[in-house]
This record gives sequence, C-alpha cells and structure tokens, in this order.
Amino acid sequence: MRDDKCIFCKIAAGEIPSATLYEDKDFRVIMDVSPASKGHALILPKEHYANLYELDDELAAKVLVLAKKMITKLKDIVGCDGYNVLQNNGTAAGQTVFHFHMHLIPRYENDNVNIGWEPGSLSDDVKEMVLSGMAE
Ligand code: AMP
Ligand code: ZN
Repeated sequence: MRDDKCIFCKIAAGEIPSATLYEDKDFRVIMDVSPASKGHALILPKEHYANLYELDDELAAKVLVLAKKMITKLKDIVGCDGYNVLQNNGTAAGQTVFHFHMHLIPRYENDNVNIGWEPGSLSDDVKEMVLSGMAE
C-alpha cells in the first residue's frame, strides 16, 4: 500500500534521501528536519497508513517495540534527561503529515518543548457518556 503523493512514502522507500538511523523490512527511522529538540526522530512504516486508526495490527505492535529499542540507544547518544514518545491523529491533534509516524522526542531539563495541557476535572456526565458508549 502506497500513496504516490505522500512524502513519507517516498522517504520510507528511500526515494527521497533522509538521515536514516535504522531500517528494516517494515520501518525506516529518520531524523526530523524541523526537530522539537536535539535528536528528534520519527518512525515511519514503509507502507502507507494515514493514522493509527488505519495502521495494521501487527505493525502497531511492532512500532512500540521499535520505539523502545530506539530510545534506549538514542538516550545515551544524545544525552537527554527524558523522552516523549507520541503520535498525532488528525489535524485537531496536530497531525500535519498524513502517513502514520511516531515521534521520538528527547527531553532535556528546562528545554522549551511544549507538550502539555492544563488538567481539567472529570465530570459525571462525561464519565457516564463515555462509559455507556464503551458498554454498547
Ligand atoms: P505531525 O505534525 O505529527 O504530522 O509531524 C510531522 C513531522 O514531520 C514534523 O515534526 C515535521 O518536522 C516532520 N517532517 C515533515 N517533513 C519532513 C521531511 N521531509 N523529513 C523529515 N521530517 C519531516
Ligand atoms: Zn505515505
């Protein structure tokens, strides 16, 4: 599965050069060109899936194992103090490239990376709405 208009399909296939940290039959791991912090990397599946909703189950399982392997090695290379491992689904969630990818973002004490929210409070009606939806 591939989308000829998708830049990450071309990068994952090696048709557009990238700073590749790792490659296997399923994935290519590259350095982000506009990094949030020093060492920001992206895991790209070689097949095109727009987002996590569409991602093949087997690849979904493999991607977290690969993320673990990558950040365990990269943390010593970049000398970071923490890691955010995240991915965005949909424009509302900040997705800008519609080929599934997982961000590996090294964090440094007092860096200026903004991944956060103001904690709200869980209301009874929202809790009820979600719990009853899950029970259907
Ligand atoms: P998202 O906003 O979750 O869709 O993330 C897209 C990410 O892809 C951003 O962090 C971009 O900096 C990164 N990006 C976009 N184009 C390229 C490219 N050609 N090579 C490497 N990273 C890219
Ligand atoms: Zn693609």
